[in-house]
Amino acid sequence: MADGADWRALAAGMQPRTGLWIDGRWQEAASGARFASVNPATGAVLAEVARGDAADVDRAVRAARRAFEDGRWSRKSPAERKEVLLRLATLIRAHVPELALLDTLDMGKPIAESSTIDAPGSAHFFQWHAEAIDKLYDEIAPTGPGDIAMIRREALGVVGAVVPWNFPLDMATWKLAPALAMGNSVVLKPAEQSPLSALRLAELAAEAGVPDGVLNVVPGYGAEAGQALGLHPDVDCLAFTGSTEVGKLFQTYAGRSNMKQVWLETGGKSPNLIFPDADLDRAADMAAFGIFFNAGEVCSANSRLLVHRDVHDAMVERLVARAGAVVQGDPLDLATTMGPMVDSHHAGRVAGFIDRARGGARLVTGGERVTRFGSDAWITPTIFDRVDPTSELAREEVFGPVLAVIPFADEAEAVRIANDTAYGLAASVWTRDIDRAFRVSAALKVGTVSVNTVDALSAMTPFGGVKQSGFGRDLSLHSFDKYSALKTVWVKIG
Ligand code: NAP
Ligand code: MG
Repeated sequence: MADGADWRALAAGMQPRTGLWIDGRWQEAASGARFASVNPATGAVLAEVARGDAADVDRAVRAARRAFEDGRWSRKSPAERKEVLLRLATLIRAHVPELALLDTLDMGKPIAESSTIDAPGSAHFFQWHAEAIDKLYDEIAPTGPGDIAMIRREALGVVGAVVPWNFPLDMATWKLAPALAMGNSVVLKPAEQSPLSALRLAELAAEAGVPDGVLNVVPGYGAEAGQALGLHPDVDCLAFTGSTEVGKLFQTYAGRSNMKQVWLETGGKSPNLIFPDADLDRAADMAAFGIFFNAGEVCSANSRLLVHRDVHDAMVERLVARAGAVVQGDPLDLATTMGPMVDSHHAGRVAGFIDRARGGARLVTGGERVTRFGSDAWITPTIFDRVDPTSELAREEVFGPVLAVIPFADEAEAVRIANDTAYGLAASVWTRDIDRAFRVSAALKVGTVSVNTVDALSAMTPFGGVKQSGFGRDLSLHSFDKYSALKTVWVKIG
């Protein structure tokens, strides 16, 4: 792709899929209802998408159950499932521009990122989990002679997956790749703001050879389709990524219905600790990335900058310069590095955090809600300095490009402030002192610590949180734990 004009031409020709994908074909919602999928950069309606509700979720779960029980996927060998999912990875690679455009148009992220990170990432994650699945061995317990006790890992059955809008294709992939590789059937509910890439993905999965009913996608509203999936008595496992508030609802859905397993990847307020011996230029580059990438709509965004008072002024000065270098504009222009918030409503929420923070902390850059291309969903890159660690801005997840800078005096105070949060998803530490790096990493109550980088993440390493950032891990071989149960088969040798 040469430039923005090419992307705009491609966008003009897009024909998004807008039905429910159930049992290997497009279907209408039983109610006939539809909802608008909107481009937040402009406010334009992209498509009217079928609005699934409880009746449709039930239809999808029945299809998924039939597929699971007759073994059309669940009883294929791992090597056969691998081949199908590798074909899917290849198809995703062949459709990177289309999938990237669907996410960019649907939720506003720059095409320079969706076409190089999100869409290729989806192919990579499918490939990684596909390649892994026929290399997992079961276990034999050390019983001694006279017995053989096998510990077998089996697919769970029907997995419900409910995902957010910040990385629409990749959040869906993180659930689908291990769940499908393991042999489960899945019903996926994408976020109402960004259903389009998941619908196209389902069609590509069918083309790759995923049998009918094994992967079903039911777009719709959280309180309708999402809740119906959470409460469905024939769903075995619910894999959720989204807010802590809704994550807690899923725990109640499980308790009120069939005690389905619930795995939660929820919110964060991740700290980035800058010690005085850090490489300040590199730390500033990555701190800016940590809060401004994807417009701060990242669960593991480094939204609290904890900086030693000796290097505080030098860091803030560097960060203001980095914020000034952010290019906000048409997400289809390759030069754009930050798009709008996902919608006008969310922009209002972010602006509310900014307005309430003004009284206490010092606004050093940004802090504006602006209208571009007719959309009021735009927030400028924002930094507040000397934020009170007990204030709302230091405690609540903003999910936007808003950084809270908090000075500290020593390591003990830094660790105390870092851990003084309800969340525990990620943290970063900048120091050249190896003892401090290990000491602080051990003391931080989070799922991932990045040392001298931010947001370290790969298919090889588990991703998830502790405390109210949830439990269970996406990615890595550990992701299969969520989508399988261990069965002991004990054979007495007569
Ligand atoms: P959200 O409001 O919690 O929505 C997530 C999903 O849950 C959406 O599909 C949503 O559907 C659905 N949902 C909403 N209300 C529901 C209900 N009452 N019952 C059942 N389902 C319901 O979160 P979001 O605003 O889309 O995403 C931002 C949040 O995701 C942030 O808190 C962020 O930290 C978190 N996140 C976490 C991770 C992680 O790995 N830890 C990764 C990415 C994002 P609708 O779209 O129709 O409302
Ligand atoms: Mg949208």
